[in-house]
Amino acid sequence: MTTGTGTATQARLYIGGEWREAADGGTFETYNPATEELNALVSSAGEADVDAAVAEARKAFEEGPWATMDAAGRARILWRMGDLLEERADDVARVETADNGKPIFESRYIDVPCTADCFRYYAGWATKLHGQTIPVAGPYLNYTLSEPVGVVAAIVPWNFPLLLAAWKIAPALATGNTAIVKPATHTPLSILRLAEIGEAAGLPPGVLNVLPGQGSRIGPRLLEHPGVDKVSFTGETATGREVLRRSAGSIKRVTLELGGKSPNVVFADADLDAAVKGATTGIFYGKGEVCAAGSRLLVERSIHDAFVERLVERARRLAPADPMHPKTRLGALVSRAQLEKVLSYVETGRREGARLVAGGARVDIGTGKGYFMAPTIFDRVSNAMAIAREEIFGPVLCVIPFETVDQALTIANDSPYGLAAAVWTRDVARAHRVARRIRAGTVWINTYNNYDSASPFGGYKQSGFGRELGEGALASYTEVKSVWVNLGQES
Ligand code: NAD
Repeated sequence: MTTGTGTATQARLYIGGEWREAADGGTFETYNPATEELNALVSSAGEADVDAAVAEARKAFEEGPWATMDAAGRARILWRMGDLLEERADDVARVETADNGKPIFESRYIDVPCTADCFRYYAGWATKLHGQTIPVAGPYLNYTLSEPVGVVAAIVPWNFPLLLAAWKIAPALATGNTAIVKPATHTPLSILRLAEIGEAAGLPPGVLNVLPGQGSRIGPRLLEHPGVDKVSFTGETATGREVLRRSAGSIKRVTLELGGKSPNVVFADADLDAAVKGATTGIFYGKGEVCAAGSRLLVERSIHDAFVERLVERARRLAPADPMHPKTRLGALVSRAQLEKVLSYVETGRREGARLVAGGARVDIGTGKGYFMAPTIFDRVSNAMAIAREEIFGPVLCVIPFETVDQALTIANDSPYGLAAAVWTRDVARAHRVARRIRAGTVWINTYNNYDSASPFGGYKQSGFGRELGEGALASYTEVKSVWVNLGQES
């Protein structure tokens, strides 16, 4: 078998600390989107495997070493996972790039180190979660306990497979839950590597389970299973609606991280060199397959023409290339279907009357293979066009001119989404005023795409609810218990 990473791979499900074939023997293939070669033959989880994973996760939650382990014990294991990720960073990064098509530069120096950091950050929290004593009326002692929710189903997309899984697994395990991870169909391999790392770091069986497979096949079972207490979902807004509907039956706790169409607002007084760079990385980093991508670029009319000219020049220099090459900064889109979807939006943009000023087509990097696309820029976009309203999830930028601050804010907020935004200006007070008035979970000022394990991330409006990362994420993996003690009267 020739494969994308040069080694034949067979991957199995990870349930209850064992590597298992699917109960019905089913498998599926994953392909390297840059070479179109087979990456791995992967066991495909079915409903019986969901039931088995839930049973193991429940057992681990209710009995055994995890249920009785103190917080410091959990912290040590999570910290060790961070260490092992760093030790195995080259291997894990190659697996991620082969599965997803992102440049090895990103996998090796962003995704894997940020994943390790996330485990260490939440390792630190494990021993710092405490309740309160509350001054209630009467002869009573009242205090609260912070307790794990139970079995967490973590459903993740394909754009940052490892990192987004860590955003869920690390806080879930730090607070004492057990987890079942459902990777996206195209990208299960790095999360299976993470399960190996968890095992080596000392996670007891059943604490972390991984079920590769089709979302439409096992998703409903996971979402409706009475043994699952919480669903943490990242993916498309349409799938998020389905997650909410199906979780309603057993009133599961749900957090949703969904799509975006983030406005990146450039005022005429901005540092234009920095803004051009920020606008380019804002949309082309991660091939534009980034939920927070700055896909709507709002540019003040007086600098519009010169700004677009510079953007186009920069975009032309950003040629897609072999993702495994260390100098590559633009890789392959994740799949043929995704490439076709993005190209169909280019057609939509043309039809709607936007002006295509860069890219717009598939690119051959000299191998005749791979789902590469040129960085694409549409100018003269109106915010009413489909290309400005719908999430394209690819390297396509829509430039929208504006005249005044109020107009910029109206356009920025005129979207069903509210995940992220940025503002570029040298006027400090205006930067903060605009940041307050934009309805989005993250606002960057004179920068783009900053993330940190300590800083909350999540959406307003149809970009979802709940926050990942930071202290805030702990609340969504815990229940608060109020305990009353009758102190009686001195006789
Ligand atoms: P998707 O919704 O198609 O799939 C996400 C996950 O859900 C996958 O694991 C998939 O197999 C699973 N799934 C599919 N159907 C299901 C069902 N019926 N029940 C349960 N699970 C099901 O999303 P995608 O295409 O993998 O990822 C891209 C999307 O993710 C974009 O919309 C992007 O904006 C969003 N995203 C959001 C964030 C964020 O933090 N807000 C981060 C990254 C990606």
